[in-house]
Amino acid sequence: MATRYDVAIIGTGAGGGTLLHALAPTGKRILVLERGQYVPREKDNWSTRAVNLEGKYNTREVWRDGDGRELHPHTNYGVGGNTKFYGAALFRLRREDFGEIKHWGGLSPAWPIEYEELEPYYTRAERLYHVHGERGVDPTDPPASAPYPYPPVSHEPRIQQLHDDFARLGLRPFHVPLGVMLDEQDPRRSRCIRCDTCDGHPCLVAAKADAQVVCVDPALAHPNVTLLTGAYVRRLETSASGREVTRLVVERHGGVEEYAADVVVVSAGAINSAALLLRSASDRHPRGLANGSDVVGRHYMGHVNSIQMALSKCPNPTVFQKTLALNDFYFGSPEWQFPMGHISFVGKLDADTLRAGAPAFAPGWTLELMARHSLDFWLTSEDLPDPDNRVTLDREGGIVLAYRPNNEAAHSRLTQALQALMKQQTRCGVHGHDCHDGLFARNLFVGQRIPLAGVAHQNGTVRFGRDPQSSALDVNCRAHEVDNLYVVDASFFPSSGAVNPALTIMANALRVGDHLTQRLQ
Ligand SMILES: Cc1cc2nc3c(=O)[nH]c(=O)nc-3n(C[C@H](O)[C@H](O)[C@H](O)COP(=O)(O)OP(=O)(O)OC[C@H]3O[C@@H](n4cnc5c(N)ncnc54)[C@H](O)[C@@H]3O)c2cc1C
Ligand code: SF4
Repeated sequence: MATRYDVAIIGTGAGGGTLLHALAPTGKRILVLERGQYVPREKDNWSTRAVNLEGKYNTREVWRDGDGRELHPHTNYGVGGNTKFYGAALFRLRREDFGEIKHWGGLSPAWPIEYEELEPYYTRAERLYHVHGERGVDPTDPPASAPYPYPPVSHEPRIQQLHDDFARLGLRPFHVPLGVMLDEQDPRRSRCIRCDTCDGHPCLVAAKADAQVVCVDPALAHPNVTLLTGAYVRRLETSASGREVTRLVVERHGGVEEYAADVVVVSAGAINSAALLLRSASDRHPRGLANGSDVVGRHYMGHVNSIQMALSKCPNPTVFQKTLALNDFYFGSPEWQFPMGHISFVGKLDADTLRAGAPAFAPGWTLELMARHSLDFWLTSEDLPDPDNRVTLDREGGIVLAYRPNNEAAHSRLTQALQALMKQQTRCGVHGHDCHDGLFARNLFVGQRIPLAGVAHQNGTVRFGRDPQSSALDVNCRAHEVDNLYVVDASFFPSSGAVNPALTIMANALRVGDHLTQRLQ
Protein backbone atom coordinates (compact mmCIF):
# COMPACT_ATOMS: atom_id res chain seq x y z
CA MET A 1 0.00 0.00 0.00
CA ALA A 2 1.50 3.36 -1.09
CA THR A 3 2.19 5.90 1.66
CA ARG A 4 -0.46 8.63 1.39
CA TYR A 5 -0.05 12.42 1.70
CA ASP A 6 -2.34 15.40 1.30
CA VAL A 7 -0.11 16.92 -1.38
CA ALA A 8 2.79 15.61 -3.44
CA ILE A 9 5.05 18.13 -5.20
CA ILE A 10 7.43 16.89 -7.91
CA GLY A 11 10.47 19.17 -8.29
CA THR A 12 11.87 21.94 -6.07
CA GLY A 13 12.74 24.72 -8.54
CA ALA A 14 11.13 28.12 -9.10
CA GLY A 15 7.67 26.54 -9.37
CA GLY A 16 7.76 23.58 -6.95
CA GLY A 17 9.96 25.23 -4.33
CA THR A 18 7.82 28.36 -4.22
CA LEU A 19 4.57 26.39 -4.02
CA LEU A 20 6.03 24.34 -1.18
CA HIS A 21 6.81 27.53 0.70
CA ALA A 22 3.21 28.68 0.23
CA LEU A 23 1.66 25.39 1.36
CA ALA A 24 3.99 24.40 4.22
CA PRO A 25 2.20 26.56 6.84
CA THR A 26 -1.17 24.89 6.07
CA GLY A 27 -0.17 21.91 8.23
CA LYS A 28 -1.16 19.54 5.43
CA ARG A 29 1.06 16.51 4.96
CA ILE A 30 3.28 17.41 2.02
CA LEU A 31 5.64 15.06 0.20
CA VAL A 32 8.31 16.63 -2.00
CA LEU A 33 9.99 14.43 -4.58
CA GLU A 34 13.22 15.77 -6.07
CA ARG A 35 15.30 13.70 -8.48
CA GLY A 36 18.54 15.51 -7.64
CA GLN A 37 20.50 16.04 -4.45
CA TYR A 38 21.55 19.19 -2.64
CA VAL A 39 24.26 21.00 -4.59
CA PRO A 40 27.34 20.40 -2.40
CA ARG A 41 28.81 23.52 -0.77
CA GLU A 42 32.41 23.59 -1.93
CA LYS A 43 34.94 25.96 -3.43
CA ASP A 44 34.11 24.69 -6.92
CA ASN A 45 30.74 26.46 -6.58
CA TRP A 46 32.65 29.58 -7.53
CA SER A 47 35.07 28.07 -10.03
CA THR A 48 34.25 29.11 -13.60
CA ARG A 49 36.43 26.23 -14.77
CA ALA A 50 34.45 23.63 -12.77
CA VAL A 51 31.06 25.17 -13.52
CA ASN A 52 31.35 26.39 -17.10
CA LEU A 53 34.21 24.42 -18.64
CA GLU A 54 33.81 21.06 -16.89
CA GLY A 55 30.05 21.33 -16.33
CA LYS A 56 30.52 19.82 -12.87
CA TYR A 57 26.92 20.32 -11.74
CA ASN A 58 25.20 19.74 -15.10
CA THR A 59 23.11 16.66 -15.66
CA ARG A 60 24.90 13.97 -17.66
CA GLU A 61 21.59 12.97 -19.21
CA VAL A 62 21.62 12.75 -23.00
CA TRP A 63 18.59 13.84 -25.00
CA ARG A 64 18.11 13.90 -28.78
CA ASP A 65 17.12 16.66 -31.15
CA GLY A 66 14.47 16.28 -33.84
CA ASP A 67 17.02 14.75 -36.22
CA GLY A 68 18.13 12.14 -33.71
CA ARG A 69 21.42 13.85 -32.85
CA GLU A 70 22.63 13.79 -29.25
CA LEU A 71 21.84 16.81 -27.09
CA HIS A 72 23.72 17.46 -23.85
CA PRO A 73 21.30 19.78 -22.09
CA HIS A 74 22.65 22.60 -19.98
CA THR A 75 20.31 22.00 -17.10
CA ASN A 76 20.63 21.06 -13.47
CA TYR A 77 18.84 18.54 -11.28
CA GLY A 78 19.02 19.32 -7.58
CA VAL A 79 17.24 20.92 -4.65
CA GLY A 80 16.27 24.41 -5.81
CA GLY A 81 16.28 23.31 -9.46
CA ASN A 82 17.79 25.73 -11.92
CA THR A 83 17.40 28.65 -9.53
CA LYS A 84 20.58 27.39 -7.82
CA PHE A 85 22.39 28.49 -10.97
CA TYR A 86 20.32 31.37 -12.20
CA GLY A 87 21.44 34.96 -12.50
CA ALA A 88 18.54 36.00 -10.24
CA ALA A 89 17.33 38.67 -12.68
CA LEU A 90 13.73 38.72 -11.51
CA PHE A 91 11.49 40.51 -13.99
CA ARG A 92 7.74 40.81 -14.23
CA LEU A 93 6.33 40.15 -17.66
CA ARG A 94 5.15 43.39 -19.23
CA ARG A 95 1.44 44.12 -18.88
CA GLU A 96 1.06 43.88 -22.68
CA ASP A 97 2.62 40.40 -22.70
CA PHE A 98 -0.63 39.07 -21.26
CA GLY A 99 -2.50 40.15 -24.40
CA GLU A 100 -2.05 39.11 -28.01
CA ILE A 101 0.96 40.75 -29.66
CA LYS A 102 1.84 40.80 -33.34
CA HIS A 103 5.47 39.93 -34.00
CA TRP A 104 7.47 39.84 -37.19
CA GLY A 105 7.48 36.05 -36.92
CA GLY A 106 3.78 35.59 -36.07
CA LEU A 107 1.40 36.01 -33.14
CA SER A 108 2.20 35.84 -29.46
CA PRO A 109 -1.09 34.57 -28.01
CA ALA A 110 -2.92 36.12 -25.07
CA TRP A 111 -2.89 34.57 -21.61
CA PRO A 112 -6.18 33.43 -20.06
CA ILE A 113 -5.54 35.79 -17.14
CA GLU A 114 -4.68 39.46 -17.14
CA TYR A 115 -1.62 41.07 -15.65
CA GLU A 116 -3.75 42.49 -12.84
CA GLU A 117 -4.57 38.99 -11.60
CA LEU A 118 -0.91 38.13 -11.19
CA GLU A 119 0.18 41.55 -9.92
CA PRO A 120 -0.33 40.91 -6.16
CA TYR A 121 1.61 37.67 -6.50
CA TYR A 122 4.46 39.39 -8.31
CA THR A 123 4.66 41.73 -5.33
CA ARG A 124 4.71 38.77 -2.92
CA ALA A 125 7.29 36.93 -4.99
CA GLU A 126 9.53 40.00 -5.07
CA ARG A 127 9.44 40.11 -1.28
CA LEU A 128 10.07 36.41 -0.89
CA TYR A 129 13.00 36.49 -3.32
CA HIS A 130 14.60 39.69 -1.92
CA VAL A 131 14.36 41.61 -5.18
CA HIS A 132 16.47 44.78 -5.38
CA GLY A 133 15.23 47.21 -8.01
CA GLU A 134 13.83 50.59 -8.91
CA ARG A 135 10.41 51.21 -10.39
CA GLY A 136 9.38 53.75 -12.98
CA VAL A 137 12.65 54.04 -14.93
CA ASP A 138 12.11 51.21 -17.39
CA PRO A 139 9.57 52.61 -19.90
CA THR A 140 7.89 49.20 -20.23
CA ASP A 141 7.53 48.60 -16.47
CA PRO A 142 4.05 47.33 -15.66
CA PRO A 143 2.10 48.99 -12.84
CA ALA A 144 3.00 47.68 -9.37
CA SER A 145 1.14 47.91 -6.06
CA ALA A 146 4.32 48.30 -3.99
CA PRO A 147 7.88 49.48 -4.38
CA TYR A 148 10.65 46.90 -4.64
CA PRO A 149 11.50 45.64 -1.17
CA TYR A 150 15.19 46.61 -1.55
CA PRO A 151 17.08 49.39 -3.36
CA PRO A 152 18.66 48.64 -6.74
CA VAL A 153 22.10 47.10 -6.96
CA SER A 154 24.51 49.90 -7.90
CA HIS A 155 26.45 49.97 -11.16
CA GLU A 156 30.23 49.66 -11.12
CA PRO A 157 32.03 52.53 -12.93
CA ARG A 158 32.24 50.94 -16.41
CA ILE A 159 28.56 50.04 -16.34
CA GLN A 160 27.63 53.44 -14.94
CA GLN A 161 29.53 54.99 -17.84
CA LEU A 162 27.57 52.86 -20.29
CA HIS A 163 24.36 53.86 -18.52
CA ASP A 164 25.27 57.54 -18.88
CA ASP A 165 26.17 57.08 -22.55
CA PHE A 166 22.85 55.35 -23.25
CA ALA A 167 20.95 58.01 -21.31
CA ARG A 168 22.68 60.74 -23.33
CA LEU A 169 21.38 59.08 -26.47
CA GLY A 170 17.84 59.50 -25.12
CA LEU A 171 17.39 55.92 -23.95
CA ARG A 172 16.11 54.84 -20.57
CA PRO A 173 18.50 52.24 -19.15
CA PHE A 174 17.51 50.87 -15.75
CA HIS A 175 18.75 48.67 -12.92
CA VAL A 176 18.11 44.95 -13.36
CA PRO A 177 15.81 43.71 -10.58
CA LEU A 178 18.01 41.21 -8.73
CA GLY A 179 17.29 38.57 -6.10
CA VAL A 180 20.52 38.76 -4.10
CA MET A 181 20.82 39.41 -0.36
CA LEU A 182 23.10 42.38 -0.80
CA ASP A 183 23.23 45.27 1.63
CA GLU A 184 25.43 47.92 0.09
CA GLN A 185 24.87 50.23 3.06
CA ASP A 186 26.36 47.69 5.45
CA PRO A 187 28.88 45.61 3.48
CA ARG A 188 30.36 44.07 6.62
CA ARG A 189 27.06 42.42 7.51
CA SER A 190 25.82 41.88 3.96
CA ARG A 191 25.32 38.21 3.21
CA CYS A 192 26.13 38.77 -0.47
CA ILE A 193 29.70 39.86 -1.17
CA ARG A 194 28.99 40.96 -4.76
CA CYS A 195 31.35 38.48 -6.39
CA ASP A 196 32.12 37.70 -10.05
CA THR A 197 30.68 34.17 -10.05
CA CYS A 198 26.95 34.68 -9.57
CA ASP A 199 25.22 34.11 -12.91
CA GLY A 200 25.43 30.39 -13.75
CA HIS A 201 27.01 29.44 -10.40
CA PRO A 202 25.59 28.24 -7.09
CA CYS A 203 26.18 30.74 -4.28
CA LEU A 204 28.74 29.40 -1.82
CA VAL A 205 27.53 31.73 0.95
CA ALA A 206 23.80 31.12 0.38
CA ALA A 207 23.20 34.78 -0.44
CA LYS A 208 21.44 34.25 -3.75
CA ALA A 209 17.67 34.15 -3.33
CA ASP A 210 17.21 30.73 -4.89
CA ALA A 211 14.36 28.33 -4.29
CA GLN A 212 16.38 26.11 -1.95
CA VAL A 213 17.57 28.94 0.29
CA VAL A 214 14.40 31.03 0.50
CA CYS A 215 11.70 28.38 0.08
CA VAL A 216 12.64 24.73 0.52
CA ASP A 217 14.91 25.00 3.55
CA PRO A 218 12.50 27.22 5.54
CA ALA A 219 9.58 24.94 4.55
CA LEU A 220 11.43 21.93 5.96
CA ALA A 221 11.17 23.51 9.41
CA HIS A 222 7.49 22.50 9.28
CA PRO A 223 7.06 18.96 10.63
CA ASN A 224 4.35 18.24 8.04
CA VAL A 225 6.85 18.53 5.14
CA THR A 226 8.88 15.54 3.92
CA LEU A 227 11.56 15.95 1.23
CA LEU A 228 12.93 12.91 -0.58
CA THR A 229 15.99 13.61 -2.72
CA GLY A 230 17.27 11.23 -5.38
CA ALA A 231 13.59 10.51 -6.05
CA TYR A 232 12.94 10.35 -9.78
CA VAL A 233 9.22 10.24 -10.58
CA ARG A 234 8.91 7.80 -13.41
CA ARG A 235 5.18 7.66 -13.88
CA LEU A 236 1.80 8.84 -12.61
CA GLU A 237 -1.05 6.33 -12.59
CA THR A 238 -4.74 7.07 -12.40
CA SER A 239 -7.98 5.55 -11.12
CA ALA A 240 -9.99 3.43 -13.59
CA SER A 241 -11.98 6.51 -14.64
CA GLY A 242 -8.75 8.34 -15.44
CA ARG A 243 -10.03 11.37 -13.50
CA GLU A 244 -7.65 11.12 -10.55
CA VAL A 245 -3.94 10.40 -10.06
CA THR A 246 -3.81 7.56 -7.55
CA ARG A 247 -0.16 6.50 -7.59
CA LEU A 248 3.25 8.09 -8.07
CA VAL A 249 5.82 5.56 -9.20
CA VAL A 250 9.26 6.69 -8.02
CA GLU A 251 12.76 5.36 -8.69
CA ARG A 252 14.94 5.79 -5.64
CA HIS A 253 18.03 4.07 -4.23
CA GLY A 254 18.00 1.68 -7.19
CA GLY A 255 14.49 0.45 -6.39
CA VAL A 256 10.89 1.47 -7.08
CA GLU A 257 8.71 3.13 -4.45
CA GLU A 258 5.05 4.14 -4.62
CA TYR A 259 3.32 7.11 -3.09
CA ALA A 260 -0.19 8.57 -3.18
CA ALA A 261 -1.58 12.04 -2.53
CA ASP A 262 -4.92 13.82 -2.66
CA VAL A 263 -3.34 16.51 -4.81
CA VAL A 264 -0.39 15.92 -7.13
CA VAL A 265 1.63 18.88 -8.40
CA VAL A 266 4.09 18.40 -11.24
CA SER A 267 6.89 21.01 -11.36
CA ALA A 268 9.78 19.16 -12.95
CA GLY A 269 10.65 21.96 -15.41
CA ALA A 270 8.94 22.46 -18.77
CA ILE A 271 10.76 19.66 -20.57
CA ASN A 272 10.69 17.06 -17.81
CA SER A 273 7.08 17.80 -16.83
CA ALA A 274 5.94 17.22 -20.39
CA ALA A 275 8.06 14.05 -20.55
CA LEU A 276 6.54 12.78 -17.29
CA LEU A 277 2.99 13.32 -18.55
CA LEU A 278 3.85 11.63 -21.85
CA ARG A 279 5.46 8.69 -20.00
CA SER A 280 2.26 8.35 -17.98
CA ALA A 281 0.12 7.39 -20.99
CA SER A 282 -2.54 4.76 -20.24
CA ASP A 283 -5.74 3.33 -21.74
CA ARG A 284 -7.67 6.34 -20.43
CA HIS A 285 -5.00 8.78 -21.56
CA PRO A 286 -3.52 7.18 -24.66
CA ARG A 287 -1.64 10.30 -25.85
CA GLY A 288 -0.19 10.98 -22.40
CA LEU A 289 -1.71 11.98 -19.09
CA ALA A 290 -4.06 14.99 -19.36
CA ASN A 291 -3.33 15.21 -23.08
CA GLY A 292 -6.68 14.86 -24.82
CA SER A 293 -5.91 18.22 -26.45
CA ASP A 294 -2.59 16.88 -27.81
CA VAL A 295 -0.81 20.01 -26.59
CA VAL A 296 1.40 18.33 -23.98
CA GLY A 297 5.01 18.66 -25.11
CA ARG A 298 4.10 21.11 -27.90
CA HIS A 299 4.78 24.86 -28.12
CA TYR A 300 8.19 24.50 -26.51
CA MET A 301 9.75 27.93 -26.11
CA GLY A 302 13.20 28.83 -24.84
CA HIS A 303 13.58 32.49 -25.88
CA VAL A 304 15.70 33.62 -28.79
CA ASN A 305 18.84 34.38 -26.80
CA SER A 306 22.36 35.41 -27.63
CA ILE A 307 25.42 36.68 -25.88
CA GLN A 308 26.98 39.65 -27.65
CA MET A 309 30.44 40.71 -26.58
CA ALA A 310 31.34 44.28 -27.31
CA LEU A 311 35.12 44.51 -27.27
CA SER A 312 36.56 47.90 -26.50
CA LYS A 313 39.91 49.57 -26.28
CA CYS A 314 39.06 50.21 -22.63
CA PRO A 315 39.25 47.29 -20.26
CA ASN A 316 36.11 46.34 -18.39
CA PRO A 317 37.16 45.65 -14.80
CA THR A 318 33.57 45.15 -13.61
CA VAL A 319 33.12 42.38 -11.01
CA PHE A 320 29.32 42.12 -10.89
CA GLN A 321 28.20 43.11 -14.35
CA LYS A 322 24.54 42.15 -14.47
CA THR A 323 23.12 45.42 -13.15
CA LEU A 324 22.00 47.27 -16.29
CA ALA A 325 19.24 46.59 -18.78
CA LEU A 326 17.49 48.32 -21.67
CA ASN A 327 13.90 47.77 -22.77
CA ASP A 328 13.60 50.67 -25.21
CA PHE A 329 13.30 48.22 -28.12
CA TYR A 330 11.03 45.75 -26.33
CA PHE A 331 7.95 46.66 -28.37
CA GLY A 332 9.78 47.95 -31.44
CA SER A 333 11.12 51.28 -32.64
CA PRO A 334 10.12 53.98 -35.13
CA GLU A 335 12.09 52.04 -37.80
CA TRP A 336 10.67 48.60 -37.00
CA GLN A 337 7.12 48.27 -35.69
CA PHE A 338 7.50 44.77 -34.33
CA PRO A 339 8.75 43.80 -30.88
CA MET A 340 12.51 43.20 -30.74
CA GLY A 341 13.20 42.30 -27.14
CA HIS A 342 15.31 42.94 -24.12
CA ILE A 343 18.97 43.89 -23.69
CA SER A 344 20.81 43.05 -20.51
CA PHE A 345 24.03 41.49 -19.31
CA VAL A 346 25.38 38.12 -18.33
CA GLY A 347 27.85 37.77 -15.47
CA LYS A 348 31.33 38.96 -16.48
CA LEU A 349 32.82 36.41 -18.84
CA ASP A 350 36.33 35.13 -18.21
CA ALA A 351 38.70 33.15 -20.43
CA ASP A 352 37.58 29.75 -19.06
CA THR A 353 33.97 30.54 -19.77
CA LEU A 354 34.83 31.74 -23.26
CA ARG A 355 36.77 28.53 -23.82
CA ALA A 356 33.65 26.53 -22.88
CA GLY A 357 31.45 28.48 -25.27
CA ALA A 358 34.13 28.50 -27.99
CA PRO A 359 33.06 31.85 -29.43
CA ALA A 360 34.57 33.11 -32.65
CA PHE A 361 38.02 34.46 -31.94
CA ALA A 362 38.30 38.12 -32.67
CA PRO A 363 41.36 38.68 -34.88
CA GLY A 364 44.32 39.86 -32.82
CA TRP A 365 42.67 39.02 -29.51
CA THR A 366 43.41 36.16 -27.14
CA LEU A 367 40.56 34.80 -25.04
CA GLU A 368 42.17 36.38 -21.96
CA LEU A 369 42.34 39.77 -23.65
CA MET A 370 38.80 39.46 -24.98
CA ALA A 371 37.53 38.64 -21.49
CA ARG A 372 39.34 41.64 -19.98
CA HIS A 373 37.95 44.09 -22.54
CA SER A 374 34.45 42.88 -23.20
CA LEU A 375 31.07 44.13 -22.19
CA ASP A 376 29.03 40.92 -22.23
CA PHE A 377 25.48 41.60 -23.29
CA TRP A 378 22.58 39.18 -23.04
CA LEU A 379 19.91 39.71 -25.69
CA THR A 380 16.49 38.12 -25.53
CA SER A 381 13.72 38.16 -28.12
CA GLU A 382 10.42 36.40 -27.84
CA ASP A 383 10.25 32.82 -29.07
CA LEU A 384 6.78 32.19 -30.49
CA PRO A 385 4.80 29.05 -29.62
CA ASP A 386 5.01 26.69 -32.58
CA PRO A 387 3.13 23.40 -32.11
CA ASP A 388 5.90 21.56 -33.97
CA ASN A 389 8.55 22.73 -31.52
CA ARG A 390 7.99 19.95 -29.08
CA VAL A 391 9.10 17.43 -26.50
CA THR A 392 8.44 13.79 -27.35
CA LEU A 393 9.84 10.49 -26.15
CA ASP A 394 11.92 8.00 -28.11
CA ARG A 395 11.31 4.25 -27.96
CA GLU A 396 13.41 3.92 -24.80
CA GLY A 397 11.52 6.76 -23.12
CA GLY A 398 14.36 9.25 -23.64
CA ILE A 399 13.66 12.94 -24.24
CA VAL A 400 13.53 14.25 -27.80
CA LEU A 401 13.46 18.01 -28.29
CA ALA A 402 12.53 19.08 -31.81
CA TYR A 403 12.93 22.77 -32.47
CA ARG A 404 12.91 25.10 -35.44
CA PRO A 405 13.94 28.69 -34.64
CA ASN A 406 11.44 31.48 -35.24
CA ASN A 407 11.17 35.24 -34.94
CA GLU A 408 14.87 35.51 -35.75
CA ALA A 409 14.46 38.76 -37.68
CA ALA A 410 13.40 40.41 -34.41
CA HIS A 411 16.60 39.21 -32.80
CA SER A 412 18.75 40.42 -35.70
CA ARG A 413 17.10 43.82 -35.42
CA LEU A 414 17.78 43.91 -31.69
CA THR A 415 21.42 43.00 -32.28
CA GLN A 416 21.74 45.67 -34.95
CA ALA A 417 20.15 48.22 -32.63
CA LEU A 418 22.74 47.44 -29.95
CA GLN A 419 25.53 47.54 -32.49
CA ALA A 420 24.40 50.96 -33.66
CA LEU A 421 24.24 52.21 -30.08
CA MET A 422 27.72 50.99 -29.31
CA LYS A 423 29.04 52.84 -32.35
CA GLN A 424 27.54 56.07 -31.09
CA GLN A 425 29.45 56.04 -27.80
CA THR A 426 31.30 59.31 -27.59
CA ARG A 427 32.77 59.54 -24.12
CA CYS A 428 35.32 57.36 -22.38
CA GLY A 429 36.34 57.99 -18.80
CA VAL A 430 39.59 56.11 -19.26
CA HIS A 431 40.92 57.44 -22.57
CA GLY A 432 39.39 60.87 -22.24
CA HIS A 433 39.08 62.90 -25.44
CA ASP A 434 41.19 60.41 -27.38
CA CYS A 435 38.11 58.28 -27.51
CA HIS A 436 35.78 60.99 -28.68
CA ASP A 437 35.77 59.86 -32.26
CA GLY A 438 33.89 56.76 -31.15
CA LEU A 439 35.42 54.25 -28.87
CA PHE A 440 33.15 51.52 -30.08
CA ALA A 441 33.53 52.42 -33.72
CA ARG A 442 36.81 50.56 -33.50
CA ASN A 443 35.27 47.80 -31.56
CA LEU A 444 34.70 44.31 -32.64
CA PHE A 445 31.40 42.72 -32.01
CA VAL A 446 31.16 38.99 -31.75
CA GLY A 447 27.91 37.23 -31.23
CA GLN A 448 26.69 33.74 -30.75
CA ARG A 449 23.15 32.39 -30.62
CA ILE A 450 22.56 30.13 -27.64
CA PRO A 451 22.30 26.60 -29.09
CA LEU A 452 19.35 24.29 -28.53
CA ALA A 453 21.08 22.56 -25.59
CA GLY A 454 20.83 25.87 -23.73
CA VAL A 455 17.41 25.15 -22.27
CA ALA A 456 17.71 27.60 -19.37
CA HIS A 457 14.51 29.46 -20.29
CA GLN A 458 12.43 26.40 -21.27
CA ASN A 459 8.68 26.96 -21.01
CA GLY A 460 5.30 26.46 -22.66
CA THR A 461 4.93 22.69 -23.00
CA VAL A 462 1.81 22.21 -20.84
CA ARG A 463 0.01 25.45 -21.51
CA PHE A 464 -2.88 26.79 -19.46
CA GLY A 465 -6.07 28.19 -20.98
CA ARG A 466 -9.83 28.26 -20.84
CA ASP A 467 -10.43 25.92 -23.77
CA PRO A 468 -9.68 22.21 -23.12
CA GLN A 469 -9.28 21.75 -26.89
CA SER A 470 -6.23 24.00 -26.99
CA SER A 471 -4.77 23.79 -23.48
CA ALA A 472 -3.94 21.06 -20.97
CA LEU A 473 -4.46 23.13 -17.81
CA ASP A 474 -7.27 25.38 -16.65
CA VAL A 475 -6.66 28.88 -15.29
CA ASN A 476 -5.70 27.47 -11.88
CA CYS A 477 -3.10 25.26 -13.60
CA ARG A 478 -5.19 22.17 -12.86
CA ALA A 479 -5.37 19.57 -15.63
CA HIS A 480 -8.69 19.86 -17.50
CA GLU A 481 -8.97 16.08 -17.54
CA VAL A 482 -7.58 15.07 -14.13
CA ASP A 483 -9.19 16.55 -11.03
CA ASN A 484 -6.23 16.32 -8.63
CA LEU A 485 -3.34 17.08 -11.01
CA TYR A 486 -1.62 20.48 -11.25
CA VAL A 487 1.45 21.78 -13.11
CA VAL A 488 3.23 24.86 -11.68
CA ASP A 489 6.59 25.16 -13.38
CA ALA A 490 7.37 27.11 -16.56
CA SER A 491 5.26 24.67 -18.62
CA PHE A 492 2.07 26.68 -18.18
CA PHE A 493 3.20 29.74 -20.24
CA PRO A 494 1.07 30.18 -23.41
CA SER A 495 3.63 32.79 -24.56
CA SER A 496 6.95 33.81 -23.12
CA GLY A 497 7.49 37.56 -23.49
CA ALA A 498 11.13 38.54 -23.76
CA VAL A 499 12.19 38.97 -20.14
CA ASN A 500 13.59 36.23 -17.90
CA PRO A 501 10.90 33.81 -16.78
CA ALA A 502 11.59 32.90 -13.13
CA LEU A 503 9.64 35.63 -11.31
CA THR A 504 6.53 34.82 -13.35
CA ILE A 505 6.88 31.13 -12.44
CA MET A 506 7.27 32.06 -8.77
CA ALA A 507 4.34 34.49 -8.78
CA ASN A 508 2.12 31.95 -10.46
CA ALA A 509 3.13 29.28 -7.94
CA LEU A 510 2.00 31.63 -5.16
CA ARG A 511 -1.28 32.18 -7.02
CA VAL A 512 -1.86 28.44 -7.38
CA GLY A 513 -0.79 28.11 -3.73
CA ASP A 514 -3.73 30.33 -2.68
CA HIS A 515 -6.09 28.22 -4.79
CA LEU A 516 -4.77 24.97 -3.29
CA THR A 517 -4.90 26.32 0.26
CA GLN A 518 -8.62 26.93 -0.26
CA ARG A 519 -9.14 23.58 -1.92
CA LEU A 520 -7.42 21.73 0.91
CA GLN A 521 -9.50 23.38 3.67
C1 LIG B 1 22.51 29.40 -15.87
C2 LIG B 1 21.10 29.86 -15.75
C3 LIG B 1 20.84 31.20 -15.52
C4 LIG B 1 19.52 31.64 -15.42
N1 LIG B 1 19.30 32.96 -15.12
C5 LIG B 1 18.02 33.38 -14.94
C6 LIG B 1 17.75 34.70 -14.52
O1 LIG B 1 18.66 35.50 -14.28
N2 LIG B 1 16.46 35.08 -14.38
C7 LIG B 1 15.43 34.22 -14.60
O2 LIG B 1 14.26 34.62 -14.49
N3 LIG B 1 15.65 32.96 -14.99
C8 LIG B 1 16.92 32.52 -15.14
N4 LIG B 1 17.15 31.22 -15.47
C9 LIG B 1 15.98 30.34 -15.68
C10 LIG B 1 15.37 29.88 -14.38
O3 LIG B 1 16.34 29.27 -13.57
C11 LIG B 1 14.23 28.91 -14.72
O4 LIG B 1 13.28 29.62 -15.51
C12 LIG B 1 13.51 28.36 -13.51
O5 LIG B 1 14.39 27.77 -12.59
C13 LIG B 1 12.50 27.32 -14.00
O6 LIG B 1 11.73 26.90 -12.91
P1 LIG B 1 10.92 25.56 -12.99
O7 LIG B 1 10.23 25.37 -11.69
O8 LIG B 1 10.14 25.55 -14.23
O9 LIG B 1 12.03 24.39 -13.20
P2 LIG B 1 13.39 24.07 -12.44
O10 LIG B 1 13.85 25.22 -11.64
O11 LIG B 1 14.30 23.51 -13.45
O12 LIG B 1 12.96 22.91 -11.42
C14 LIG B 1 12.59 21.63 -11.85
C15 LIG B 1 12.95 20.64 -10.76
O13 LIG B 1 12.34 19.38 -11.04
C16 LIG B 1 13.27 18.32 -10.79
N5 LIG B 1 12.87 17.18 -11.61
C17 LIG B 1 12.91 17.08 -12.96
N6 LIG B 1 12.39 15.90 -13.36
C18 LIG B 1 12.01 15.24 -12.24
C19 LIG B 1 11.41 13.97 -12.00
N7 LIG B 1 11.04 13.17 -13.01
N8 LIG B 1 11.19 13.57 -10.71
C20 LIG B 1 11.53 14.38 -9.67
N9 LIG B 1 12.11 15.61 -9.85
C21 LIG B 1 12.32 16.04 -11.12
C22 LIG B 1 14.60 18.95 -11.18
O14 LIG B 1 15.70 18.28 -10.57
C23 LIG B 1 14.44 20.38 -10.65
O15 LIG B 1 14.82 20.51 -9.30
C24 LIG B 1 18.44 30.73 -15.56
C25 LIG B 1 18.71 29.38 -15.77
C26 LIG B 1 20.02 28.93 -15.85
C27 LIG B 1 20.28 27.47 -16.07
S1 SF4 C 1 27.84 36.28 -2.96
FE1 SF4 C 1 26.28 37.52 -4.00
S2 SF4 C 1 27.11 37.88 -6.04
FE2 SF4 C 1 28.28 36.14 -5.16
S3 SF4 C 1 27.14 34.29 -5.84
FE3 SF4 C 1 26.35 34.87 -3.84
S4 SF4 C 1 24.55 36.15 -4.30
FE4 SF4 C 1 25.79 36.05 -6.17
